[in-house]
Amino acid sequence: MKTKFWHKWPPALVLITEKGMRDPVTDLHGVVWHTAGQARGAVVRIRPAYAGDDGILMHELSHVRTFWWALLATVALALVVSGVCLVVLGPGFYLMLPWLACLAAMLLVQKLKPYKLWNEALAYAVQLKHTKGDGQPTELLDLAHRLAGPIYDFDLTVTEAQREILKYV
Ligand SMILES: [Zn+2]
Repeated sequence: MKTKFWHKWPPALVLITEKGMRDPVTDLHGVVWHTAGQARGAVVRIRPAYAGDDGILMHELSHVRTFWWALLATVALALVVSGVCLVVLGPGFYLMLPWLACLAAMLLVQKLKPYKLWNEALAYAVQLKHTKGDGQPTELLDLAHRLAGPIYDFDLTVTEAQREILKYV
C-alpha cells in the first residue's frame, strides 16, 4: 500500500499517516474515539490501520468533493459580484473586496452546524455504500454511533444520526 498517492476524481492528495491527525476524544464512559481519516481542503489523511478501508477513503473523498464544489461556487459568486461592480462602478483596487467577502463567507458557512452536519451525513451515506477494510459491509448503526459520538458535536441521538445519514442514501 502506497503511503502517498494522488486521487484523480475528485482531485485529492491522499496520505496514509498518523501525522497531523486529530487527537483522540474520550467520552463520558471513558471510551476513546479516534478519527480514522480526515480531509482538509483537497488533502486526505488516513490512519495506517484503516489504509485498506474503502468506506473511510470514500467518506473523506466526499468531503473533498464538497470542498471543490464550495470553492467553485465561491469563485463563481465572486466573479459575478466583482463583474457587476466593474460594470457599475468601474475599475479599481476595491474589486478585491467581493473576492475577500466571498472567501470569508465560504469559510464562515463551513463553521455552521447545519452545514457541518449535512457534510458529515452525506459523507457517511457515501461510506455506507462501500465495504470496510476487512471486506465486510459497513453497518448503518456503526456509522450512526460515530456521527452521534464525541468526535463531532452535533448533539444527536443514534436514531437521529441514522435518520440524518439515510436522508442522503
Ligand atoms: Zn467526515
